[in-house]
Amino acid sequence: MIIGIDLGTTNSLACVYRNGKAELIPNGLGGYLTPSVVSLDESGEVLVGAVARERLVSNPADTAASFKRFMGSKKTFPLRQREFTPQELSAFVLRQLKQDAERYLGGEVTEAVISVPAYFNNNQRAATLEAGRIAGLHVERLVNEPSAAALASSMLSDEDEQSYLVFDFGGGTLDVSVVDCFQNIIEIVAVSGDNHLGGNDFDERIAAFFCKSHQMDLDALPPQKQAVLRRLSEKAKRELSEKESNFLHMNIDGEDKAVILNNEILIGCCTDLFDRMERAVVHALRDSGCTVDDIDVIVMAGGSCKMPVVAYFLEKLFGKKPVMIGSPDEVVAQGAGIYAGIKARDEEIRDVLLTDICPFTLGVGSYNPNDRGRNIMTPVIERNSVLPVAKTEYFTNVHDKQKEIEFPIYQGESFDCSENLCLGRIAIAIGQAMAGEARVSVTFSYDINGILVVDVVDDKGTNRAQQVFMSEGANLTEEELLRKIEELKKYRISSNGDERDRLLLARGKRIYQELIGSDRENVAAALREFEAVLAVNNRRAIHVMRQRLAELFGVYEEFLNEEFLNEGFMDKEFLDKEFLDKEF
Ligand code: ADP
Ligand code: MG
Repeated sequence: MIIGIDLGTTNSLACVYRNGKAELIPNGLGGYLTPSVVSLDESGEVLVGAVARERLVSNPADTAASFKRFMGSKKTFPLRQREFTPQELSAFVLRQLKQDAERYLGGEVTEAVISVPAYFNNNQRAATLEAGRIAGLHVERLVNEPSAAALASSMLSDEDEQSYLVFDFGGGTLDVSVVDCFQNIIEIVAVSGDNHLGGNDFDERIAAFFCKSHQMDLDALPPQKQAVLRRLSEKAKRELSEKESNFLHMNIDGEDKAVILNNEILIGCCTDLFDRMERAVVHALRDSGCTVDDIDVIVMAGGSCKMPVVAYFLEKLFGKKPVMIGSPDEVVAQGAGIYAGIKARDEEIRDVLLTDICPFTLGVGSYNPNDRGRNIMTPVIERNSVLPVAKTEYFTNVHDKQKEIEFPIYQGESFDCSENLCLGRIAIAIGQAMAGEARVSVTFSYDINGILVVDVVDDKGTNRAQQVFMSEGANLTEEELLRKIEELKKYRISSNGDERDRLLLARGKRIYQELIGSDRENVAAALREFEAVLAVNNRRAIHVMRQRLAELFGVYEEFLNEEFLNEGFMDKEFLDKEFLDKEF
């Protein structure tokens, strides 16, 4: 069986195509979003998802998040005395999704279509494929996230030809893409975005606003307090999607502190973030040669599009309402699921051709007459070229009696090669030509799998060099891969017991950290008791305890969060006015 997977920075989802439609696959907790967080517990078992996310606060040293940001890089994450690569951590998430899908579908899942950001380079794509292989999934294809989102939206439209702007605003990244759908061809025309702008920045601003209002410095708080405040800020932000205003409050050193929040205040704290959002949209439009009016549909993807201020911003910018297909954080997964259906040759879906583009420029470093030590970039394949693509450029030698010409191969947009990523070098012999005598053609072929072939030939056809450039380091040999799979087998994805119980325990442990005194002892006693009934697997007692704990934790969370409101300590209307009169 084949499934579609949105392997996100913050959350991951799985989707299957059956009975004529894309169907999201629930995880062990019954939700569709599985946080892309991995934690190792005391016994060396791997925890993935909501449980692991709770442990970000309680066991930060054994827990990793946001590793997608480092896919294809050399960064590793230490969890309990072992360093894990981003692709290994991603493999754990994939294994969890695979396991959940198998339980839900009642059969083995062996294949997947995985979505990746359109701007992912070779290294990042190769690392994603590797993660799939480590997880025991044959990755049928990587699809670009904006193509997947456009595919999901195009299914709802009868129009034959439409231009989409996909505004994918996740936890840590903003991706803006212009995508053309013409009959059954879905083509990315331009991609742009901001790699360091997402929902997290809004959380951060809210936390900073809280601190500033109380003359505190966020960075000066102990790390755990910071983590708690960030979590509360995120919660407050989400609540603003549902209601006009609310409170954020937290106990700092035994003293309860609060601020009121509403969307106006949020905009006030984040004006520069909106500027950056606008810049990304303008950049994508400019690269695509489109104007605001050429865009037929604005597709909102990513959880941060649930913020009313984001929809408002887009509406102002485009003069029309953006569309929301289901929940924005599910759109990419829906598209990946539909594509998985196409791959499985499900007759009910018309065949669709997803074209890919090269999201960056590929070129060679050439001689800089003004500064010999500093090569300048000569583009061969420009960014946003549709794949597969082949382009040729011609070069000559600059020195007399030069025996060979060496071409360093770069990827990137900077004029100075030193600021671009060097993929390697290729050289060709040219005899002993005088300056300007030799003529050499350099052909770049770049295919849909992100493999670059460089072919260098002199004009007489006597000398020739050809080389394949794949991303350095990212590709394991078959042998290394098998060894890795074997090694990671010992990290079993935790499966004993019920996911709900593990979440309840993790939640309790987090609450425990936030409380003090007898409240803390109450929670500890409840946790001990729960662990005891789980250990003997007494179904009835577990059932009773679950309800008791959920109630108890609910009360404490309320206590931790809503204390002010319950006490009627503040007059909301009065505060509203006072805060709105202030200048932000
Ligand atoms: P990613 O693509 O990065 O994996 P998602 O698309 O799941 O992430 O988006 C995660 C982000 O969406 C988080 O920053 C989260 O706070 C935010 N988010 C989720 N739901 C809401 C909501 N109701 N209101 C505001 N922000 C939300
Ligand atoms: Mg996403």
